Amino acid sequence: MPTVAIAVVNERNSEEMRQGYVLPVRIGRGAACNIQLDPENRAISRLHVEILEENGRIVLLNRALNQNATMFHGRSLAANEKVALEIGDSFRIFDYELKVLAPSTLGLLHVDKGSLRPRAEHPLVPGGAILAYGDAHHLTVEPVARLDRIDTQKIAGRLALLFYFDGDQPTFAVLSNPEGLQVFLDRGLVQQDALYIQALDTIEIGDHRFEIHPVGEPAIVCENPSCQVLNHYDRGENCRLCGTRLFGATRIVRGKI
Ligand SMILES: [Zn+2]
Repeated sequence: MPTVAIAVVNERNSEEMRQGYVLPVRIGRGAACNIQLDPENRAISRLHVEILEENGRIVLLNRALNQNATMFHGRSLAANEKVALEIGDSFRIFDYELKVLAPSTLGLLHVDKGSLRPRAEHPLVPGGAILAYGDAHHLTVEPVARLDRIDTQKIAGRLALLFYFDGDQPTFAVLSNPEGLQVFLDRGLVQQDALYIQALDTIEIGDHRFEIHPVGEPAIVCENPSCQVLNHYDRGENCRLCGTRLFGATRIVRGKI
């Protein structure tokens, strides 16, 4: 699935959020949007613009009907006008500047450890962060705008995990672990609260498994029904997690990305 990484700068308070998305991306003031802009600003449409894939290209579709509502390369887009977006392009919606970044190279797949069913997949982008909070059985996974603005009340007394890019290096951190759950990286017990992670790493805690997927690279899924983890397509013949022979495994990528 095609993904896009977007930086959203709110020029009123200079806050910036970087996040990866699976296309299509809906942007507006409505709560159903992937990127919700100021819900109080009625000049912004509920669904203001959409970012779509069309014939292998990423395009911006202006849904706003009013003039000067969406600015692109110094001009106002007409209602239902469509323009191609390149990496580095930016467009403006009132106080918001939205910039297209290089697409993410890693996806974070949240898997139910018992059934091994994927729950959700989130692109990881440099400068972006994803917070998972809840307990051993259930976690809410959502992007966070700024590491120093994580709602401490929301995670108080709960399991809280953070995936973020520290410079160019993706990092996993345990923010709080009130149940004292054991954390495993590729089945090895982890003692420290933060560690660098890389493509095809697997983190397990409670009923949760997080797999770090390389986006768009061929990989094979382990055929062991109780494992099913992704492996490099061209590296070795045994599953890196359970040791099962990978002969005959189908060349597929799990998850949406
Ligand atoms: Zn395996």
